[in-house]
Amino acid sequence: MNMSDHVPVLLVDDLPANLTALEALLTDENITVFEARSGPEALELLLAHDFALALLDVQMPEMNGFELAELMRGMERTRHVPIIFVTAGTADTQRRFQGYEAGAVDFISKPIEPHGLRSKVRVLCDLHRQRQQIAAQRDELAASAAALREADRAKDRFLAVLAHELRNPVAALMGAVDLLGRPRSADQAGIIHARMERTVSHLARLVEDLLDVSRITEGKVTLKIQRIALSDVLNFAVESSRHHMDAGNHHLTVALPEAPVWFDGDYSRIAQIVANLLGNAAKYTPPGGAIKLSARTIGGEIVIEVADNGMGIPADMQARIFEAFAQVEDHRAYAQGGLGIGLALVHRLVTLHGGSVSVESDGRGRGSVFTVRLVQVEGGD
Ligand code: ADP
Repeated sequence: MNMSDHVPVLLVDDLPANLTALEALLTDENITVFEARSGPEALELLLAHDFALALLDVQMPEMNGFELAELMRGMERTRHVPIIFVTAGTADTQRRFQGYEAGAVDFISKPIEPHGLRSKVRVLCDLHRQRQQIAAQRDELAASAAALREADRAKDRFLAVLAHELRNPVAALMGAVDLLGRPRSADQAGIIHARMERTVSHLARLVEDLLDVSRITEGKVTLKIQRIALSDVLNFAVESSRHHMDAGNHHLTVALPEAPVWFDGDYSRIAQIVANLLGNAAKYTPPGGAIKLSARTIGGEIVIEVADNGMGIPADMQARIFEAFAQVEDHRAYAQGGLGIGLALVHRLVTLHGGSVSVESDGRGRGSVFTVRLVQVEGGD
C-alpha cells in the first residue's frame, strides 16, 4: 500500500446535514468516506470494513457515541479502530468514555475547526497505511520463510535419495572388486568388467549431471555456439539414446523437416537435451511403447516434440516437473537411479539457448509430450 492510497473512514452522526458537512471538510484527504446515521448502522459497516478511524458524534438518540465506542472496544474486529468523538463542547463529556486502553481516542468539539480535524485525520490515516504495509511485509516474510522451509525439506529429501542411489552402485562395485580378488575364468572376468563399466559410467553420469545443475545455477556454463543443422543434431541424439529404446523394446519414429533447418546453439548441449527427453520417454513407457521424435518450423521457431504413450504425468506435477529433484512418486521405481535432475538440466539448457520447454500429458497412463522451442536462423553455413 502507498502512502497516497485511499483508506476507509467512518463518519457516524444522526443528522444528515452534519454528515454532509464533515464529508465536505475531508474531501481533499485520500480517504473513502462511509456514513452511518445510527450506532447499529455503524456496527454493520464496522464489521464489513477495516476502517482507518471512526468519527463518532457523541449526542445521538438510541445509542450515543460513547455507547457505540464501548461496543466497538468489546469486539475483536473493531477493538483497535481509532475513534475521534465529536462533542458538543463541554470538557466534562470527555470523562464519560472508559475504553482508552484499547486504541487511539481523541476529541474534537463543535464548531469544528477544519484544520485541526484534517491534521488528526491525516495522522490516523497514515498510521493505518503504515500498519497495513507492515502486515503485508509480514505476510511476504512468512511466505518466503515457508518457501525456504520447503526448499530445505527438498534438499533433505534429495540428500536421502542421493545416498540411497549411491549405495546400489557402490555395493555393486564392491561386489565386483571382491569377485576380481578370487580365482576366475576369462569369461567371468569379462562379465565383471562389463558390469563395472556400466556401474562406473552410471556414477560418472550422476556426478556430471549434479555438477552441471550447480554450474548452470551459478552461471558458470558457457555455450559453444555454432550454426547447427537441425536434422544432424537430432539424429545424433537418436543414436545416443538408441540403447534405451532397445532396452525397452520401444518403437521409435522420427519425423524431421525435409528442407534443411538451421539454428545457432551448442551442439552437444542440444543433443543432450533431446537425448535426455528420449531417454525419459523410454524409461517411463512400459515395454513395447511407441515413441515419436518430430520437428517442424513455425514462424521462425523450431518446435521439437518428444511424445510417448507411457505413464504420463499427473496434472499437479506438470508445473513442477522441471524443478530440480522433482519426481513423480509412482515413477521412482522406473527412474533407473535417476535423481530428478535431468529435466531441470533440460529446462536450464533450453533457457540458456533463449528457448522454452513445456510438457503436456492427459495424466496417468496417458503418455506425455515434451515440446522444445528454439529460434530458427535463415540460411546455412
Ligand atoms: P529422473 O528421470 O532421473 O527421475 P528427470 O528430471 O529426467 O529425472 O525427470 C523427472 C521426473 O519426471 C521423473 O522422475 C518422472 O517422474 C517424470 N518424467 C520425465 N519424463 C517423463 C515421461 N516421458 N513420462 C512420464 N514421466 C516422466
